Amino acid sequence: MSFVTHLRCPRCGRTYSADEAHNVCECGAPLLVEYDLAAMRRLSPADLWPASRGMWRYAPFLPVKDPSNIVTLGEGGTPTLRAPRAGAAARIDNLWIKDEGLNPTGSFKARGAAAGVSKAKELGIAAVAMPTAGNAGGAWAAYGARAGIQVHIAMPKDAPDINKQEVRRYGGHLTLVDGLISDAGKLIAAEAKAHGWFDVATLKEPYRIEGKKTMGLELAEAWGWTTLPDVVVYPAGGGVGIIGIWKAITELRAIGWTAAPMPRFVVVQAAGCAPLVKAWDEGKDVSEFWQGAATVASGLRVPKALGDFLVLQALRESGGAAIAIPDAEILRFGALLAETEGLWAAPEGAATLAAAAELRGRGWIRDGESVVLINTGSGLKYPEV
Ligand SMILES: *Cc1c(COP(=O)(O)O)cnc(C)c1O
Ligand SMILES: [Zn+2]
Repeated sequence: MSFVTHLRCPRCGRTYSADEAHNVCECGAPLLVEYDLAAMRRLSPADLWPASRGMWRYAPFLPVKDPSNIVTLGEGGTPTLRAPRAGAAARIDNLWIKDEGLNPTGSFKARGAAAGVSKAKELGIAAVAMPTAGNAGGAWAAYGARAGIQVHIAMPKDAPDINKQEVRRYGGHLTLVDGLISDAGKLIAAEAKAHGWFDVATLKEPYRIEGKKTMGLELAEAWGWTTLPDVVVYPAGGGVGIIGIWKAITELRAIGWTAAPMPRFVVVQAAGCAPLVKAWDEGKDVSEFWQGAATVASGLRVPKALGDFLVLQALRESGGAAIAIPDAEILRFGALLAETEGLWAAPEGAATLAAAAELRGRGWIRDGESVVLINTGSGLKYPEV
C-alpha cells in the first residue's frame, strides 16, 4: 500500500533506509521521507481509501507498509469551513477555516502522532521519548497507549495543565522541566540515549511530517485537486505542519494530480516568540534562538526550530509572508472568531485570523483570493486563555 523508498536529507542529500529507525542526518538536519513518485503517477484519486478512514484515506502517500501497523483514533478528515462572518470582519470575501480542533486529543498533533506511532510500531520500537510545548505530549501519549508503546514526555513546568493531565491519563511518563521546550529537549535526549528510547522530538524523527502532510492532501482534494487555495495561513512553532502541507503539494504536482501554483504560505508566530518571523524579515535562511519566549499560544513557544530552513524555503518558494501577532490581538481575534463563526479556536488558530486581517489591510491578500486559516487546535484545551 505504500510507495515509500527511503529517507533523504534535504540539506546534504545523504540517504538512509526507511526500514530502520533513524533520527536526524549525520549533518544534523531533519530527514524527509521519499516515495517512488514515478510509480505513483499511475495512481488516481479512485485509489484513495474511503473518506471514512480519515487521514488514512491517503495511505498510498504515507510511509506505513503493512496496514495492520496503523494506529488510529479517527484522526484527519477535518472540515474546511467557509467563514463568511469572520471574513467580513477581516474584509476577506473568500475565507475558509480548516478546523483541526476536531481531531482526537483536540489538536492536529494527532495526525503527526498517528503516523509517527504507526511507523514506530512497524519498526518494532518499544519506547519513545519527546519534549513538548504541550499538545504533542498528549497526542503521543494517547497513540502510544493504543499501540502498547511506552511514551516518555518532558514538558515545561508552566505548560497548560490539561497537557500534563493528558499524558498522565494515557499512562505516559511525565517529567516537568523548569524551562522551555528547548530545555526539555536537552533533558529527554540524554535520557533517551541512556535508556535506549527512540527520540521522537519534533523533526528528530521523519514520520510526523508525513501525518501532517495529510492536511495538504485534504486541502487539495477539497479544492478539487486541479485548483488550490491562493493563501494558507499557518501558526508555526516547529513548523512541521507547513513543511507537511508544502511537501504534500510538491508530491501532488510531481505525480501530475495538480498543476496549480503552490499556495502562498503565511507563517504566523506570537510577538513574544517569533524567531521565524525575525529570520524572514532579515532575509536569513535559518533562525536564531529566541530569548525569553512567552505567549498564551503555548504551541508557538518554540524558540528555535530544527526545520527552520525548510519553513523559510517554503515561504521563499511560494512567495509567502511571515508575521508576528501580539497576545492581546490573538485574544481579540479568538473572541471574534467564536462570536462570528461558533468556532472556539486554540489561541494558535486565532492568531491566523489576526494575521489574515493584517495582511488584507496591507493589501498583501488581494480581492477575491481564497484564504485558508489552519485552526490547529480546540479552544476547549485552553480554558484559562
Ligand atoms: C504544536 C502546535 C502548533 C505548532 O505546530 P508546529 O508543527 O510545531 O509548527 C500550533 N498550534 C497548536 C495548537 C499546536 O499544538
Ligand atoms: Zn544531511
